[in-house]
Amino acid sequence: MSNIVDVLADALADAVVDTIVPAGEPWMGVVPRGGSLRIVDLEGNQAVDTLFYNAADFHEHYSAQDTIQAQASLYLTVGSVLRSNRGRALLEIIGDTCGRHDTLGGACSAESNTVRYALEKRHMHSCRDSFLLALARADNGMNKRDLPPNINFFMNVPVTPEGGLTFADGISAAGRHVELRALMDVRVLISNCPQLNNPCNGWNPTPVRVIVHGPGSP
Ligand SMILES: [Zn+2]
Repeated sequence: MSNIVDVLADALADAVVDTIVPAGEPWMGVVPRGGSLRIVDLEGNQAVDTLFYNAADFHEHYSAQDTIQAQASLYLTVGSVLRSNRGRALLEIIGDTCGRHDTLGGACSAESNTVRYALEKRHMHSCRDSFLLALARADNGMNKRDLPPNINFFMNVPVTPEGGLTFADGISAAGRHVELRALMDVRVLISNCPQLNNPCNGWNPTPVRVIVHGPGSP
């Protein structure tokens, strides 16, 4: 299992992007076709709410429904192909030292904070706020309509035998990572979750590291 030192050592000098995203902050960037995106859970049990788009046309975006149907599984790990709302392959997961990523839990919001926790949690910063902030900063025509159901990397959301969802303790740990190969030019939108009311991140949101390599890199 990689530890942080290993992860730092194998982050090659030719990375196009190598940045730390603090908890509660968004990040947006592009991974070229054939390039890779690695997200490192630096301190463990962080939830990384993530969306992907065709970089040339943001109306084509990650689709949980198409992805789940095509792979006949709710969870994502190595070999999972992330599909768009047009059924096309956006990215494939090529590395995963966590082992489970959620497709169903969605992004936290003022509304979900109110329903899941308490009315007085409504004002707290949420992933939806971070997504909207990133779209506003990008100023590229994307808006609320362009926020479909997202992936939660490193988040553990077991489905009960009755078909319900539970938010369980995280199974990730410091230094674990997920890596994806882009199968077309993709735009990435991340909200590094600020949630303080959910056991999935140990009630302690923490930073993640985002590393992008160009085509031809390992
Ligand atoms: Zn969140």
